[in-house]
Amino acid sequence: MAVAHDVVCGMDVNTESSPHAEHEAKDYYFCCDGCKGAFVKAPAYHLENWAEEHPGVEPTPVAA
Ligand SMILES: [Zn+2]
Repeated sequence: MAVAHDVVCGMDVNTESSPHAEHEAKDYYFCCDGCKGAFVKAPAYHLENWAEEHPGVEPTPVAA
């Protein structure tokens, strides 16, 4: 398994059991469908917020 970061709420999520959405050829993972829905509506907004709050931290999982 791999761990990814939910860019909407900031939780660590397991890539095997979490909903995900593709954006610009990357897979993003979420704790719940609510966060996924928020991301799908405004992916750029959430990615910018993530980058501001977590400089240098890539939200997508490290390849296994
Ligand atoms: Zn979440």
